[in-house]
Amino acid sequence: MNLTLRGIGRLLIMSGEPVADAALVVRDGRVAWTGPERSLPADAPAQTLDVGGACVVPGFVDAHTHLLYAGRRREEFVARLAGSAYDGGGIRTTVDATSAATDEELLRLASGRLATAVAHGTTTMEIKSGYGLSVDAELRLLRLIGELAGRTPMRLEATYLGAHVVPAGRRRDDYVDDVVATLPAATAAGARWCDVFCDEGAFTVEDARRILVAARAEGMGLRLHAEELAYTGAAGLAAELGCASADHLEHVSDVDARAMAAAGVVGVLLPTVTLSLRSGAWGHAARLRESGVELALATDCNPGTSWCESMPYAIQLACLAMGLPVDEAFRAATLGSAHALRREDVGHLGFGAWGDCAVLTAEHEADVVAHLGGRAVGTTVVGGVAVADDLKR
Ligand SMILES: [Zn+2]
Repeated sequence: MNLTLRGIGRLLIMSGEPVADAALVVRDGRVAWTGPERSLPADAPAQTLDVGGACVVPGFVDAHTHLLYAGRRREEFVARLAGSAYDGGGIRTTVDATSAATDEELLRLASGRLATAVAHGTTTMEIKSGYGLSVDAELRLLRLIGELAGRTPMRLEATYLGAHVVPAGRRRDDYVDDVVATLPAATAAGARWCDVFCDEGAFTVEDARRILVAARAEGMGLRLHAEELAYTGAAGLAAELGCASADHLEHVSDVDARAMAAAGVVGVLLPTVTLSLRSGAWGHAARLRESGVELALATDCNPGTSWCESMPYAIQLACLAMGLPVDEAFRAATLGSAHALRREDVGHLGFGAWGDCAVLTAEHEADVVAHLGGRAVGTTVVGGVAVADDLKR
């Protein structure tokens, strides 16, 4: 819990200017001091990690994942490569596989993915339910997300996504009734957030409004899958309701983007989805940026459209495919994502924040964007403890 990080060639604090030849002191898990190493306080903790001139950044905050699932979607993926369109229908394949898996199997699978994410520098992650699609099955997934928190050093945020797709054989209106009725139990099961997949082939803007208004009354924070497959007006709804974030946004309009900026709705970019779907939809990042929307980055880790636990990979795509400057991509992956989760204690290394950081394998953050297929993170530190450490290997 007490640690002195020394030999930092370049330290990105995010809530302040970068520091060269820096050190960082963590006490009781929190950032107690940052500055030039030559000014390191004499009483700095004896427990020391010398990073040998590497660049150190705040631990990545992955603000959008569907990490808890079983099964693969291999046939769908291969068919898509051969030219089939994605319509969201494959979600039901994952629902079936997830229902068939035991609790222990699901926890084992998700723990493995969390370990991979930690090794890639992620220290805070949002995880959605949504592969249950019945009251009992959704509550089971939320309970398991709570259990996962005890099996990982990572800080987790649980989101209730009962409104992922309409289950086979159910009327949409009836199912929306179920989702609304489940909100108190979802909160009791640990969900801090409520999300709706508002899109063509999923739930309508009116469905989303009903669910999110009820969730807000229940004290939950709001987020929304918006404008991924088609323009529906979901981003405008996110602005109207003051959602913490609207995510995807490939088809967002200029008017709705400006409304999001005015309402303080963070735009969560998921570039690995665009890559995986081969949709070529990269232009919305520039549109959101020009409209003044605060940007976040996330992996959307899921078996159908983004099999990815790596935030550095999302950063590379944000820069190389979406055109974000390097500094903005790193900010989106840390401070922006923390804002998308309305957390002040992560995503930066200012005084009092959690001592969570990623020690890069390079001396400058731009190098990990330029180095394709390389390993971006050498050591991950959570609360002043090195939890994934390859530096010595
Ligand atoms: Zn998603």
